[in-house]
Amino acid sequence: MPLKYIYFDLDNTLLDHNNAESRSHEQIYNQFPVIQHVSLGDWLKTYKEVNHNLWVQYQDGEIDRDELQFLRFHNTMAELEISTDRSKEIGHTYMETYREFWDWIEDAEETLEATCRKFSVGIITNGFKETQHKKFKKLKIARYTDRMIISEELGVLKPHPKVFDHATDLAGVERDEILYVGDSYSSDIVGGINAGWKTAWYTAAESETEPEEKPDLTFDRFSDLRRFLHLEL
Ligand SMILES: [Mg+2]
Repeated sequence: MPLKYIYFDLDNTLLDHNNAESRSHEQIYNQFPVIQHVSLGDWLKTYKEVNHNLWVQYQDGEIDRDELQFLRFHNTMAELEISTDRSKEIGHTYMETYREFWDWIEDAEETLEATCRKFSVGIITNGFKETQHKKFKKLKIARYTDRMIISEELGVLKPHPKVFDHATDLAGVERDEILYVGDSYSSDIVGGINAGWKTAWYTAAESETEPEEKPDLTFDRFSDLRRFLHLEL
């Protein structure tokens, strides 16, 4: 079946989350001397591990969003044996700074624009409702689509079938007429394949382990996605 509907993931597919995250960490590192007791490299490495584990707990419903946002700084500092006194303030400053650095991944905006001229387009994202709405606003995504599905609003996260079934209903087309473009093999590609969709895996941000089931397209430059969709800029 020819494609009719294209859904995109947001973080690290359209919006450069990795860049905003590291630049924001650099900023809090320079701003809070307590963190400078360890190297920036050790700080980032520990934060990423702690944050990842907390996201798994959040995904399993063991902790809520506020706990995640607090604990990822508190636990990183505790693990690195530095004072946790200002962890709440540091977490707050991080979120403020993180927002300032939100920007498109290279070539992503042009590709989204070209895609919505030819197909119906939507966004499906995990992440915090409030933050994701602010990201849509900052990138002015409403110029390209008003269909934004935030999994937190459905009470489950990708790759849960409920997210993809809901998105299928909203698209109003057959399952194999939908393509999902995303960077996470475990959330986006597995979720899309299980839903009977076609999938395009963007691997430039972070390529995980060798996939068990191949996506219809694996790409690390948006020009490859445009070629796959027969799009002109
Ligand atoms: Mg992503």
